[in-house]
Amino acid sequence: METQKTISPDYTSYPAALAPFVRENSLVVRSPGRINLIGEHTDYNDGFVLPAAIDKAAYFAITPTEGDFIKLHSADFHEDYKTTIHELRKSEKNSWPNYLLGVADQFKKACVTLSGFEGTITGEIPLGAGLSSSAAVECAIAFALNELLQTGFSKLQLVKMAQRAENDFVGVRCGIMDQFASMFGLRDHVIRLDCRSLDYEYEPFRMEGIRMVLLDSGVKHSLASSEYNVRRQQCEEGVSIIQKKYAEVQSLRDVTQTMLDELLLPVVPLIYRRCKYVVEENLRLLAACEDLKKGDMKSFGNKMFDTHHGLSRDYEVSCSELDFLVDAVQNNPSVLGSRMMGGGFGGCTINIVNEGAVEELIQSVGEMYFQSFRKELKAYVVKIEDGTSLVRHIG
Ligand code: ADP
Ligand code: MG
Repeated sequence: METQKTISPDYTSYPAALAPFVRENSLVVRSPGRINLIGEHTDYNDGFVLPAAIDKAAYFAITPTEGDFIKLHSADFHEDYKTTIHELRKSEKNSWPNYLLGVADQFKKACVTLSGFEGTITGEIPLGAGLSSSAAVECAIAFALNELLQTGFSKLQLVKMAQRAENDFVGVRCGIMDQFASMFGLRDHVIRLDCRSLDYEYEPFRMEGIRMVLLDSGVKHSLASSEYNVRRQQCEEGVSIIQKKYAEVQSLRDVTQTMLDELLLPVVPLIYRRCKYVVEENLRLLAACEDLKKGDMKSFGNKMFDTHHGLSRDYEVSCSELDFLVDAVQNNPSVLGSRMMGGGFGGCTINIVNEGAVEELIQSVGEMYFQSFRKELKAYVVKIEDGTSLVRHIG
């Protein structure tokens, strides 16, 4: 018989909002959002990224039930969604169930026999701010189903299933970084991920005395997706010109500054600038990892400013609000590094800030931002935390 008794909640492992939905036979998974320190627009060029999981997460409680029903609940939106394991179709009315159903669909496509369950999702990651709340939700249910059904998929397999759920079911073309960072995150470390081979290495990132501050421009330009496609094409065009002479070149990952100077600069100056940014960014990221190994946060932070300037001037995916936010902290001795984060044309800047200066910084930049743009500046202060984990086993 199915038990409906609610267990006494452990608030240290999941948020109180989830407690009414956790039963004796529920398991609960925590899966965090992510930041990316350096390595922007490098993923689709077979390059490197340097993400980390954060201390804001999505939580998914799953309870097995008799029969074929899937009953989903959003504790944040106060909405329900009901279907069966045989009818995993995209909901046109609400978007949130799709991030969950898309992953269930991946299990089915991997020939797993699903059985009925109730699932509740809640989270503390701001939605749509560029901290990848969507990947967190996908990784949470992927991990939960893997545990519940004892399917034995590896973390990397779960990451790929979560990414495919977002690509194929939700219909958002995203790379693998977000899901990878959510699943593989490690406290006080960033992940150097090679987007070509998916090899990865943890680099130490000491959070002692510092905080990551995300300053949310509140801007969402419609340009973002069209310009993203244009940048991808420009990178491909650069590669195809270089390939005519250097046949071994597969992507910008294989391109050197000398090749750029020789083959792109004289004939296609705009493509040259785009490609130069990507080539520099990969080198910058590798050098930044050396900074981390030495514990040289100042040098690391300076590279974040360099990334921003490359994105703004050469790759041209910034906007006046993001440039303003980086300029506002550039000469502040309490800010080690700052840059726009994500695809561009809006979203957040990521800042490494001395812990004692965080509040004042948010206050003063917020005032300046309001004066210039008449927009309230939202800020999120985060730490680097562990990736996806089970926070409640079946009792
Ligand atoms: P981002 O991933 O940058 O936060 P997206 O637009 O990719 O932004 O994903 C946000 C969507 O993910 C939300 O609109 C919602 O459908 C889903 N989502 C994220 N967090 C939650 C949550 N806590 N509860 C329900 N749905 C969520
Ligand atoms: Mg997302």
